[in-house]
Amino acid sequence: MFRIGIGNDTHRLVAGRPLILGGVLIESDRGADGHSDADALSHALADAILGALCEGDLGVHFPDSDSQWKDADSLQLLARVCWLARERGYQVVNADATVMLERPKLRDYIAAMRETLAKTLQVDTGCISVKAKTGEGLDAVGRGEAVTVQAVVLLEQS
Ligand code: MG
Repeated sequence: MFRIGIGNDTHRLVAGRPLILGGVLIESDRGADGHSDADALSHALADAILGALCEGDLGVHFPDSDSQWKDADSLQLLARVCWLARERGYQVVNADATVMLERPKLRDYIAAMRETLAKTLQVDTGCISVKAKTGEGLDAVGRGEAVTVQAVVLLEQS
């Protein structure tokens, strides 16, 4: 028995904030604004898992009105969502994500992101794909104003 889920997350890029993607700190003059650590990659993956489980979205489980989640480590949120999946009898088979960011180039960070996410989701690194795209100078991503992540995840009954 398989279930598939899709996730999408966008954060505004501003000066004076760290840029964290998949739990990895990216060297950048701008970071993602948000209530938690604003890790859009972890958020999109968590939303994809919740979607596969028909369990709503991240905002339902970790509302930004709750000060408990202020500056939260999003890897912890992702681990909690993974734990919820296991509680429901499912485990992650694989995940694929595309990070849309104009700069910096993410090539040198991809391996670390995949490793960190795989550890968090308790799967082999070969089951987690992270790809990077720019916005070609168009839209909010292309103007360097935002980071957007799309993710899909497949769960299997364990
Ligand atoms: Mg988010």
